[in-house]
Amino acid sequence: MELSRRDFLKASGAGVGGIVIWQALGSGNKASAKTIPLKKDIIGETSTICCYCSVGCGAVVAASGNMVLNLEGDPDHPVNQGALCPKGQAMLQIHNVNGAINPYRLTKPLYRAPGASDFTEISWNDAIERVAARVKATRDRTLITKDSNGKTVNRTEAIGSLGGGELDNEECYLLTKMDRALGLVYMEHCARL
Ligand code: SF4
Repeated sequence: MELSRRDFLKASGAGVGGIVIWQALGSGNKASAKTIPLKKDIIGETSTICCYCSVGCGAVVAASGNMVLNLEGDPDHPVNQGALCPKGQAMLQIHNVNGAINPYRLTKPLYRAPGASDFTEISWNDAIERVAARVKATRDRTLITKDSNGKTVNRTEAIGSLGGGELDNEECYLLTKMDRALGLVYMEHCARL
């Protein structure tokens, strides 16, 4: 049987209308009503910023539960207007690969003790405390309070700060503030190396 577009629309409209009326009036057959599949999971779309470089392209992420279902360039974002470079397009794989949580994603800091060949997982608190203790010890040991002319400088030349390409403006601002407060003079960015 030939089915024109108009026939199809009429048939589907009648079908949908039939279901709605049937549900509204109540068919008295509750078992059948339960067979209509209901969409339980809400798929939320959220805008985000690409984590890979300071261009800061915008993306739209569709997620359901804890699974990212789709990620694409945000057409309303002024920086990229919907386009993403290959790194940005692969951003979804940070979280999941082929429908499963990415097994290679690191979620805890790894520590390799002096002389050890393997890394061991440590807690975030442990990692932060270790870094803070080393920074303080190095700064205390190497702080230069006055230069050769007797001028107060309060600097250390024993610690360098290396920013990453994925840091955004605000993060760079905070990092630089912390570096200056510690008295660091060697600040660099990975893009210049
Ligand atoms: S890595 Fe690519 S998609 Fe991501 S912000 Fe940079 S240019 Fe944009």
